[in-house]
Amino acid sequence: MNIFNLEQPSVPVVGSDERFPVRRIYCIGRNYDKHVAEMGYDVKRSKPFYFGKPADAVVMSGATIDYPPRTANLHHEIELVVAIGKVGSDVAVSEALEHVYGYAVGIDLTRRDLQKVAKDQGRPWETAKGFDQSAPISAIHRASRISHPTKGRIWLAVNGQIRQDAGLNELIWGVAESISELSTLFELAPGDLLFTGTPAGVGPLEPGDEVTGGIEGIDEIQIRIR
Ligand code: MN
Repeated sequence: MNIFNLEQPSVPVVGSDERFPVRRIYCIGRNYDKHVAEMGYDVKRSKPFYFGKPADAVVMSGATIDYPPRTANLHHEIELVVAIGKVGSDVAVSEALEHVYGYAVGIDLTRRDLQKVAKDQGRPWETAKGFDQSAPISAIHRASRISHPTKGRIWLAVNGQIRQDAGLNELIWGVAESISELSTLFELAPGDLLFTGTPAGVGPLEPGDEVTGGIEGIDEIQIRIR
């Protein structure tokens, strides 16, 4: 491999020949009440927070993904993904949607056993969240072609069995609030992706599993675990 010839990670854009170049991947933790509860946290005392994945963790819908190493508990988390198209810091909630380029459906794959060790020992989450191929994603749908999502079904099935089934109206922090808060921590820029958190029903995947999911009004996603 020629290290001077590395490929820019990117995601296709629906209705365009252009691809969205991925700069950074941000993710929100604990953004749906019932998921906060299933992870054993107090909903009232738990606030959303951010973590990251490397840009080259993106893998397109339709892919077959190798079951990752060093885990015996790979989990699925279906999520609405926001693609950022405009630079911004300290963005007001009322202006946050102007920074949206588009939306996609993503799966925040998680090595849950490594995450538990990290939580128990106060260690970083990178090995639990930022591994290779840990960010499957659909194509991006431009915000100018669809409406900004505030409701609509978000679901995930494994081998045809529904595991996660909720509504975007259940997001604790909506898209605008999530962008606004993130922009107080980092300068947002075109190419940033924000995984907005998962609803309840997360669970384990096994080699051979066929994973499908979707968000009403946006798109569907499909991956296979090998
Ligand atoms: Mn997640």
